[in-house]
Amino acid sequence: MPSDFSETVMKRLMKKYDDQRDTMLRFSGPTQLLVATMLSPQCTDKQVNSVTEGLFEKYRTFKDYANADIEELSADLGGINFYKTKARHVKESASMIIEQFNGRVPKTIGELMMLPGVGRKVANVVLTNGFGITEGIAIDTHCITVANRLRLARTRRPELIEKDLMRKIPKKYWLYVSNLFITLGRDTCKANKKECARCVLKDICPSSNAKPSG
Ligand code: SF4
Repeated sequence: MPSDFSETVMKRLMKKYDDQRDTMLRFSGPTQLLVATMLSPQCTDKQVNSVTEGLFEKYRTFKDYANADIEELSADLGGINFYKTKARHVKESASMIIEQFNGRVPKTIGELMMLPGVGRKVANVVLTNGFGITEGIAIDTHCITVANRLRLARTRRPELIEKDLMRKIPKKYWLYVSNLFITLGRDTCKANKKECARCVLKDICPSSNAKPSG
């Protein structure tokens, strides 16, 4: 059941980080978003953006990825972690999308997760940022930290945190939860050092060390 607390949290984050509700990955259209998101695990958005700038010039359609020479595609992803595995997943997913989904990025979590290299988090990011569809909430490492400090979850397991957040946060905010928690996690609620004195939630957060006295 959504609470006043989660409503207040979301309202404040929406106001404070108004210009950062959307993903920091640079893309144009669902094809580029899917590829960028598949490259993002274990990488910063900045690293992904630096690679995709040239990648999207060279590979414009799923056919381009499906027909790519795997060695060449791997080399084109060279700047990011696990580039060989990611290159294989992108190529295989592109073939599958052509064969099974008429060349279009599927619009459900279940279908997206059939693609090699696409887990629930990637699927949620694509649905949310590509189509404005909210079937769930993408949980990354920042979301884990923030959700636990706000006591909206009490576990490190992403699939359970997603369920907790879906239960506690009104659905109208689901589209923005992930990006706003990531932004808060990068700004004040860092895993290794929380800076509560600067945080927009400092007076209501159960983990705040900067609550006003008295
Ligand atoms: S008040 Fe502190 S612990 Fe709570 S969300 Fe802000 S930075 Fe994190």
